[in-house]
Amino acid sequence: MSSNGFEGRSVVVTGAGSGIGRAAALRFAAEGANVLVADLNQETAHETVTAVRTAGGIARAVVGDLSEQAVVDEIVATATSAYGGLDVLVNNAGIMDRMSALADTEDAEWERVIRVNLTAPFMLTRAALPHMLDRGRGAIVFTASEAALRGSAAGTAYTAAKHGIVGLTKSLAVMYRNNGIRANAIAPGATSTNIRVDAEAGAHGPSVVGPHVALAGRVADASEQAAAILFLASDAAGNINGTVLPVDNGWSAI
Ligand code: NAD
Repeated sequence: MSSNGFEGRSVVVTGAGSGIGRAAALRFAAEGANVLVADLNQETAHETVTAVRTAGGIARAVVGDLSEQAVVDEIVATATSAYGGLDVLVNNAGIMDRMSALADTEDAEWERVIRVNLTAPFMLTRAALPHMLDRGRGAIVFTASEAALRGSAAGTAYTAAKHGIVGLTKSLAVMYRNNGIRANAIAPGATSTNIRVDAEAGAHGPSVVGPHVALAGRVADASEQAAAILFLASDAAGNINGTVLPVDNGWSAI
């Protein structure tokens, strides 16, 4: 068994077709975990699976929109049947908003960002929990954001969704701390991935937030976020529960 205790463990990583999720999937697999790659994008999800297998690891993909209950159910059913349970859930998939200030946030922007970034992690965690409770153990890690810590890192919808992730993390930690289940989050600062911001040039939100985002500092590599995810999921973090760990080159210290 590896020092982090992931050998033979069943690990679900959402958004594992790209960026932070892919980096985490590769790291978990390198530590001997059986990894389920969940992503909307069929091509990139399969690229991650191929990369894991080429390196000698174990992975399979479930492709679909995490905001659909049928996809959530398929992820949990696949992980539990193929890998014999579900030990680690990494709720990582997410999308940016348009950096819109509240008055400029249209229903479609609000509803999609809240649905993908907050409701989908809620749904997947709800589906995964019974399997963790059965075994009396489990680690859940959320990818929050600098926008979970402050109002100056994104638009209204994304900021609200990521603050909601902090609430999910803390509620889970309190509700299940006596059941062997831990829930934590990372709060990445600027990180080099494929995430896209479709901000309207000159709009109020981007023009207010832009100068604050310029304070983000060094852009992290996705592997630096993955390292923090693995730590929080590992046995070494066994007494860490309900915390939000900034991985941001000190941005949140400003
Ligand atoms: P990314 O775009 O490279 O990867 C995100 C992945 O999630 C993609 O593969 C995408 O297909 C998938 N995805 C998106 N919506 C989905 C859905 N509905 N169903 C299934 N899969 C879906 O971006 P990333 O930067 O690696 O993002 C990962 C997480 O990190 C997100 O939650 C994001 O909010 C957070 N984050 C990123 C940064 C950054 O600077 N990159 C900073 C803070 C937080």
